[in-house]
Amino acid sequence: TPSHVSAAPAGPGGTRDGRRVPLLANITVPGDLAAARAHGAEGVGLYRTEFLFLDRADVPGTAEQAAAYAEALDAFPDGDVVVRVLDAGADKPLPFLPPSAPEPNPALGERGLRMLRRHPEILAGQLAALAKAGAGRPGLRVMAPMVTGADESAAFAAACRDAGLDRPGVMIEVPAAALRARDLARTVEFFSVGTNDLAQYACAADRQSGALSRLHDPWQPALLDLVALAAGAGVPCGVCGEGAADPILACVLVGLGVASLSMAPTAIPAVREELAGHTLDRCRAAAAAARASRTAATARAAARAVLARRR
Ligand code: PEP
Ligand code: MG
Repeated sequence: TPSHVSAAPAGPGGTRDGRRVPLLANITVPGDLAAARAHGAEGVGLYRTEFLFLDRADVPGTAEQAAAYAEALDAFPDGDVVVRVLDAGADKPLPFLPPSAPEPNPALGERGLRMLRRHPEILAGQLAALAKAGAGRPGLRVMAPMVTGADESAAFAAACRDAGLDRPGVMIEVPAAALRARDLARTVEFFSVGTNDLAQYACAADRQSGALSRLHDPWQPALLDLVALAAGAGVPCGVCGEGAADPILACVLVGLGVASLSMAPTAIPAVREELAGHTLDRCRAAAAAARASRTAATARAAARAVLARRR
């Protein structure tokens, strides 16, 4: 283990006054699992399944998928592992799953759960593989990307339960889903906010455009308002977008009511250290200061000032 890893504060994530906040890893390729363990992740908050479907002509079979999911579950036998079903389309195109018509605006097109609704056999195959991997491995949770309304979250939850997966959740990454989070909360067990897409859609700024990074910034006060709606809707709400990897924003998210944070494995030690330096009330004060600001830059400065007051 490199010294910069072993020097990180050990133990579970949480505030100075003992509010537990599990710090989880985003997994994009299986190799990330070892990094997640090395950096002290308590589980997996976002297991992206797209890698299984890349560079091939068709859908991977049940056994192949189940083996990959089981590997992730076995890497964290005592923690939750949140597997996201296929998020194809837009910034994650798959050659064998083209949209049904040309898409001038792929980010607003048939991506994520929308694509799976057109290919229910792919969703059913994935859920069957997950059920197989989850047998005897109780940490498994399953969630859907790119959900817009409660009709979609209810249909996804029903498909999960039909497959024997009893703790379905949804990502909150469309503003409509955040605005109607209370409706969605009646249909699923948990939320996970994807700040990358939620910022993109809230500010109408392509997440792949460097020129617009000022707009698709998780510090945008409008984004913070949407996170607060999701976090206050009555089911446990995590954050798994890049925003969770910013130690200051992580404290603000906790102050907004977020229950867990999932990030790139290397970001975990710094987030753990920052969060451990503040009480929950201080995080709430930082969140209030950020939401009272009018720009992303002043929101960040206001939160920093609150968190610098006392450590
Ligand atoms: C997000 O949109 O914030 C997210 C975590 O999902 P992805 O980056 O895979 O779209
Ligand atoms: Mg997303």
